Amino acid sequence: MSGALFLLIVNFLIAQLFCVFFLAISGRSRVPAAGRWFAVAFATASLAAIFELLIRFADFDRLWSFGAFASLLFGVYLIRVGIGCLYAMPVSSGAGLLLFGVSFAVNLMIYDLPRNSWGHSLGYQLPFFAVEMMSALAVYRSGRKGAGDRLLMALLVLTGLHFASKSYFAVMTAGPDAQAYLSSVYALVSQSLGAILVVSTGLTLLAVIVTEIMDDAKSRSEIDPLSGLLNRRGFFERVNRVLARPIAAFPHSVILVDLDHFKAVNDTYGHFSADQVIVTLAQTLMEHAPSDAICARLGGEEFAVFLPSSGDATGYLFAQAVRGNFSSHTFSGLPEDVRLTASFGVCAMRNAREPIDMILQLADKALYEAKKSGRNRVVRANRTELEMPPALARQA
Ligand code: GH3
Ligand code: MG
Ligand code: MG
Repeated sequence: MSGALFLLIVNFLIAQLFCVFFLAISGRSRVPAAGRWFAVAFATASLAAIFELLIRFADFDRLWSFGAFASLLFGVYLIRVGIGCLYAMPVSSGAGLLLFGVSFAVNLMIYDLPRNSWGHSLGYQLPFFAVEMMSALAVYRSGRKGAGDRLLMALLVLTGLHFASKSYFAVMTAGPDAQAYLSSVYALVSQSLGAILVVSTGLTLLAVIVTEIMDDAKSRSEIDPLSGLLNRRGFFERVNRVLARPIAAFPHSVILVDLDHFKAVNDTYGHFSADQVIVTLAQTLMEHAPSDAICARLGGEEFAVFLPSSGDATGYLFAQAVRGNFSSHTFSGLPEDVRLTASFGVCAMRNAREPIDMILQLADKALYEAKKSGRNRVVRANRTELEMPPALARQA
């Protein structure tokens, strides 16, 4: 068995494996269509290997040659379709029709030209170059710039250049017909390089999808499904990220919020309507929060907001604005004249030596004070415990 023939079989098997991998993970992806298109793309492109074998072992060279060209072109085009789904950059069907119309016509016309002529080699390879560049351009224009996205773009460009360079090397080194081509050293080198690029592109596409699945799973585990805010885990993960920044301007503000008499709302209007109140308070917090705020539902009817580098008074003013706005809200599912309120505890974190747990405890004490003193109010934490040296604080 010649080296080129062996590589054809290996390429075929690798393409089948990719097909299975993409089908296996597509169901878990945010855009299952992308993985399915990639699976179909690899299955279609792998047919080219069968056609190349037929060229070698059966009559009707012209038919098999066209089959090899068409299946590979469809394969790389379907990768472009899949990238369109994955990167929200849909392919224009007009461009696809034009590409296939022109490429197929040219391919049939150039068949009788010698393989090592410029006419044949350019007519054969340029459509592949064009599709690879379309794919690379789609990734570029999507604006996504993760490591996987950049690597994918680079591999698509390299694969496009590989196709283009094949024209040149076909003229310089290959024989004049299909049989001669398959037996040439050039075919062996070209197919090896092609296989490396196909495997790298396939693995990178898989990595992009798997990374996206993992990111989605992580953010789902940090989001509260009812309110759409962060949950407790997401809150601490984001807050700790801010606190880990080497240069952070203090103070930060922490605000704890608790709905007033919420048990009565549940008992009177039912759980479903009470849930809408939780959603409304979450929306009110989001509407008033600056873009860098970290808003979370810590559990039940309790919320927390962390305002990074916000200044001493900001937390208090924020809480007052939310309190005032929320107390005038009406709620779907509750009688028109029902108004509800919430209580707020606010504490400022003035430097990196103040532990966040301690700040939260002080905010919680302030919230308790707000409840005790009549609810629907904002109370600032008494920070004297924090400001006293630890030895004195123990004596106090
Ligand atoms: P206070 O003004 O002192 O905060 O009184 P409260 O009734 O709001 O406080 P309490 O802690 O006694 O009750 C909280 C209630 O919140 C208990 C439960 O019925 C309700 N609750 C907790 N989580 C949920 C939820 O996810 N959905 C709904 N609808 N109710 C919840
Ligand atoms: Mg509570
Ligand atoms: Mg409550």
